[in-house]
Amino acid sequence: MQRALALGVGPEIVRRLLSAIVARGVHDPAAWGRDCQIPRRLIDAIGNLSRLELEHSVVSGTDGFQKLRFRTHDSLAVETVIIPLHKPGAVSICLSSQVGCVMCCQFCATARMPRRRSLETWEIIDQFIQARHLARSTGRRVTGAVFMGMGEPFLNYERVLAAAELLRCPFGASIAAKTITISTVGLVPEIDRYTDEGHKYRLAISLGAATDAKRARLVPLAARTPVAAVMAAARRHAQARQDRVTLAYVCISGENMGQDDARALGELIGDTPVRLDLIEVTDLTGRFHPPTADELRSFRDALTRHVGQPIVRRYSGGKDIRAACGTLAGELIEETGGGAANPRHR
Ligand code: SF4
Repeated sequence: MQRALALGVGPEIVRRLLSAIVARGVHDPAAWGRDCQIPRRLIDAIGNLSRLELEHSVVSGTDGFQKLRFRTHDSLAVETVIIPLHKPGAVSICLSSQVGCVMCCQFCATARMPRRRSLETWEIIDQFIQARHLARSTGRRVTGAVFMGMGEPFLNYERVLAAAELLRCPFGASIAAKTITISTVGLVPEIDRYTDEGHKYRLAISLGAATDAKRARLVPLAARTPVAAVMAAARRHAQARQDRVTLAYVCISGENMGQDDARALGELIGDTPVRLDLIEVTDLTGRFHPPTADELRSFRDALTRHVGQPIVRRYSGGKDIRAACGTLAGELIEETGGGAANPRHR
């Protein structure tokens, strides 16, 4: 958009071009000129947008989650997940914002990827466009998008927000803002910036644990900021939006699911309006284990007493194809020779 405007091309032409690419998925520069009357000089200027190469697509044999692995122009692996929703035929796309991640969350495979960089806005949007094409080709429709794939979205703030805007806007993908979620492990300056800028996308803040000591073990980089400061930013966001803020909590057996953890979480949250999403850990190293059904029930009961606000068990699917939260790892999977247990390839 900026490159086009710098060339002196009017906003209407830019809208037409974005509509062709993002809304209709037309990538042939010849078609831009022929069908959309896009000026030659604009086509010459942006016609060399490198596309992600779809390298691998695999569907879970258990729950229909579909993982796509792309290769960037500089040979980095990027993974994207098509998530089936409750409504039949509806899916959401889980997008990556970075290759690898510096946040070092101990249960996350992405953190162990050897090569790292932030993705360009165009690389984020191309994940969406190609995933949407695959979903449509099998009769599914895309009704949402979540920035919960590889990387910490707020470490790539500008490009992620630009991508979200292209997903939302009527000449882009026309996805309702309230069905777009941006997730963060708790970067306070960026949460405040996001709040001040008044974005309408949903914000999900991942806590890891309710105390600084436990966060230092589980999410060491994020834990450099005291959890009380993260919660204060969450509260400011909830107040500004006049809405509940989503807190994500990764449930790890024997680590952060005791009665004391539930009490600490209740004290931390206080009267801040929240929705608490509980996600069972999937750790490829085997160091951390998901809770048993009894452990989860007991923790949930304790949270009901201490938090007393909506608690949702969020399904993290596609475990057999390594599409679950914390298991996207592109090149790392190749290096370790890991594979899917019972996948269907497309
Ligand atoms: S959980 Fe998210 S923020 Fe943490 S290392 Fe993984 S990708 Fe980064």
